[in-house]
Amino acid sequence: LLANLGYGSRKDVTRLIRNGWLTRRDGSTVGVDDEVAHGDLLLDDEPLDPPQGTLILLHKPVGYTCSTKDPGRVVYDLLPERFRYRNPVLSTVGRLDRDTSGLLLLTDDGQLLHRIISPKAELPKVYEVELAEDLKGDEAALFAAGTLVLENENTPLAPAVMETVDARHARLTLIEGRYHQVRRMFAATGNRVLSLHRSRTGMLTLDGLAPGEWRIVPNEEAEEKL
Ligand code: URA
Repeated sequence: LLANLGYGSRKDVTRLIRNGWLTRRDGSTVGVDDEVAHGDLLLDDEPLDPPQGTLILLHKPVGYTCSTKDPGRVVYDLLPERFRYRNPVLSTVGRLDRDTSGLLLLTDDGQLLHRIISPKAELPKVYEVELAEDLKGDEAALFAAGTLVLENENTPLAPAVMETVDARHARLTLIEGRYHQVRRMFAATGNRVLSLHRSRTGMLTLDGLAPGEWRIVPNEEAEEKL
């Protein structure tokens, strides 16, 4: 359990346990072969990280990539280091570009991940868009039609809802997440995205999380909002 949560190799965590760092909430020391319940355990007096089936909501700042391998800054740098070594791994739910900020989910629950990104689930993802040129006025109708085919693709995009905020700002709601989708949709209208921020996935928002901050989403909240 401890090794799968990323606290160290099996050898490391065996040593931690033998040295008495793992206790129950009543203060009794846990032995290597004891039967234990995750919620009853303290490691160095701290509750353990959440078990498998975890959902994390991160406010991704601009400048971080959603990869594990990028030599630059990656979103995993914003989480405790041991989160990188969990088994099963915590993957990002879809990706945000390096230059995109906003709501990013990570999970080790494959079914949940699939449900969030599947266009069939029609879960809205809301983007706040800043544009280089004024809106022309026909973009909302074009995106809503469900006929737009992006460059180098064959299948049309699903209908999307665009609201105009002002001449150079729009709010776009998508139910799918193709590669660079928002940037390419506006490129198809002859415009260019200057900045992009995801403010919502399903009914989850960033509510008070500053860029770089994150929180665990409890299972009940995930069921209600996703
Ligand atoms: N669309 C994009 O173009 N980039 C993102 O990061 C997300 C959606």
